[in-house]
Amino acid sequence: MTDARIEGLRARMNENELDALIVTSLANIRYLTGFSGSHALAVLTAKRAYFISDSRYTLQSAREVRKFRRIIGSLGLMEDAAAAKTLRGCRAAGFESDSLTYAQYRSLRRLFPRIMFRPTSGMVESLALVKDAREVACIEEAAAISDGVFHDVLKFIRPGVTELEIAAEISWLNRRRGAESDAFDVIVASGPRGALPHARPTARKIRKGEFVLLDFGSTVRGYSSDLTRTVALGGAPRRLREAYQAVLEANESATASARGGMTARGLDAVARGCIRRRGFARYFIHSLGHGLGLRVHERPRVSALSPEVLRPGSVITIEPGIYIPGSGGVRIEDDVLLGGTGCRVLTRSPRELIVL
Ligand code: ZN
Ligand code: ZN
Repeated sequence: MTDARIEGLRARMNENELDALIVTSLANIRYLTGFSGSHALAVLTAKRAYFISDSRYTLQSAREVRKFRRIIGSLGLMEDAAAAKTLRGCRAAGFESDSLTYAQYRSLRRLFPRIMFRPTSGMVESLALVKDAREVACIEEAAAISDGVFHDVLKFIRPGVTELEIAAEISWLNRRRGAESDAFDVIVASGPRGALPHARPTARKIRKGEFVLLDFGSTVRGYSSDLTRTVALGGAPRRLREAYQAVLEANESATASARGGMTARGLDAVARGCIRRRGFARYFIHSLGHGLGLRVHERPRVSALSPEVLRPGSVITIEPGIYIPGSGGVRIEDDVLLGGTGCRVLTRSPRELIVL
């Protein structure tokens, strides 16, 4: 599998007239080499493939890295790449402009004075758009763990418990159910704080008559799930319950329409149309979703501005939301695998409003 990725990347390098690509994004290094650590560099040329790290990762990289020649150095990643003459015979080399730092760029210029360096963007990411069966299996497993965590945490949510306590419970349940980590910092937003789409949990005690929004994910072999559910503590105000119905309808309509071959903005429009018809258009303040994989947010962007055509084999989130300042928020987020004629929903937690 990694072979196909290397060849796919070489084909893109060729199209871009690059003799080499310097890969600095850790998610991309993992995608290409299998390495799951936090300090490495990969250099790909037309004929050669190098993986560079230091002695903290000698054993781990020997176990994980396939198809790349391993260099365990001690001078620094760029210096070790230069010492091993990884760019010999090359003239134009690309670097990843979204992850290479300015300091690293200056090192490259100093260490390889004859090479012409060119910024690139999204070369590995575009390969990673379509998931293979093993990747889908990881995301599916992560989604099943998140569903289990949601089921379990409901028992814990009651008036007087703080957002931070609920967040800690979610993290603990995630580990208990086999996730290697939370996919990102758990979001718990209660009452009026629900109007902040990315609220950090606080010591605020949740109360009767409020909505509580939970957004969390589980990581399995590097791959993430991303699940949001909003629950009510007793009877919530009518306006919030109406908002819930609008978000539910938007989620279900978008899920029913999602398929490879449609545009990302077309899918966003399906959900946005439902919310607009129910009079909440100005409270749906973010895009409908995002790609999911080794990164929690990756391509494709599923937004009103994205002309991108969705591909069968991509995993995306569908997460409409309504955020009413001073009152609260609702979001219902699922992960789906796009097919040619429809999609398969990977997160299976109930979507109807749960009143605790
Ligand atoms: Zn989320
Ligand atoms: Zn998300």
